[in-house]
Amino acid sequence: MSRVYISAQQDYDIDRLIKAVDEMFTSFGLYEKIEPGSTVVLKPNLVMRSAPEEAIITHPNLVSAVAVCVQRQGGSVLVAESGGGVYNPTVMKSVFRGCGYTAAAEQYGFSLYTDCRSQEVELPHGVRCGRLSVIEPYIQPRKSLVIDLAKLKTHGMMGYSGAVKNLFGVVPGLMKPELHCRYPEKEPFAEMLVDLCEYVRPDFSIIDGIEAMEGNGPTGGEKRFVGALIGSDSPYDADLAGAEIINIRPMDILMLKNAHERGLCAADTAPLSVLGDSISSVLVPDFKRARSSDVDFITRVPRFLQPLAKKITTPYPKIQKKNCVGCGKCAESCPQHTITVREKKAQIDYSRCIRCFCCHEMCPKHVIDIRRFSVFNL
Ligand code: SF4
Ligand code: SF4
Repeated sequence: MSRVYISAQQDYDIDRLIKAVDEMFTSFGLYEKIEPGSTVVLKPNLVMRSAPEEAIITHPNLVSAVAVCVQRQGGSVLVAESGGGVYNPTVMKSVFRGCGYTAAAEQYGFSLYTDCRSQEVELPHGVRCGRLSVIEPYIQPRKSLVIDLAKLKTHGMMGYSGAVKNLFGVVPGLMKPELHCRYPEKEPFAEMLVDLCEYVRPDFSIIDGIEAMEGNGPTGGEKRFVGALIGSDSPYDADLAGAEIINIRPMDILMLKNAHERGLCAADTAPLSVLGDSISSVLVPDFKRARSSDVDFITRVPRFLQPLAKKITTPYPKIQKKNCVGCGKCAESCPQHTITVREKKAQIDYSRCIRCFCCHEMCPKHVIDIRRFSVFNL
């Protein structure tokens, strides 16, 4: 029976979070899987160094609450993640510190993975992608349980970021742009994400949707209070609920559409058993979407005009030159190497841009907007 657990929360009060996580783990029988002395690996969303109150990253109090519950069963916790830029111990220590994870780890006694080893692996269930690189704690076969701790956000390229998209962070830093190059179109990219999700197969997923991000997510949008923690033993079911809470039709999310076509999830939450609070109690009907391509519009124009329609409606990255500080993070993350920095200002050569929005995601100053032809602006 497919199930999802919704827990309505007002804030990140650690005691209430521990209670909520405890209820989820009890409902799903997760405690029985945690062997005393075993390690449980937690995969948060730390796309960049960012303070928890900016709503870009999984809140450290949620990670701490999960750690407390695991430790009560005699397990230990390792937090492992790779953000979007360079992946090495110096960078990861800085990301963990800047995101409030180092202080939380000291207070709640969990470990942070900073060895930064990775390996190319085969994806035995890969439909689109047969091989890619994965950071060490997620390499199969693994003895540890994995808990996916995602953030509820919009996403410039994929429209939505939750439990499935969060697992892209097991790919080491600058290998991510390589995958954008291999799969520049959204549908194959979504298919690769499902292949990766089927490789990692998290034992449990929780989406931090207490303070979510709307608009230009996953890093440049606005914080929006949703007040929901979403838990499930299936990352797809967690995402079905996450999407519906922020009023996106699940089958408009290519990862979920692809997972549904593979028989990995339903088309919506109707067949799911919803535990805890109701979806309607945390619904945010006017949640602002990301400016993704207008797929519906494209399918309505004559076929011979569709390439032109696609070009016009597909959003593009636009740098606010005035506020650019020339740090080069965008150029570093660009899979097409189409950004140059001159005289401390970045510029994009659009002829090679594949609209992956890695630059938008990685700009620490949030000065890369997602724009599109004005008629199509939301
Ligand atoms: S990452 Fe942002 S601030 Fe840094 S060079 Fe690029 S546009 Fe400018
Ligand atoms: S310029 Fe930005 S959107 Fe275009 S390919 Fe590079 S990273 Fe992707």
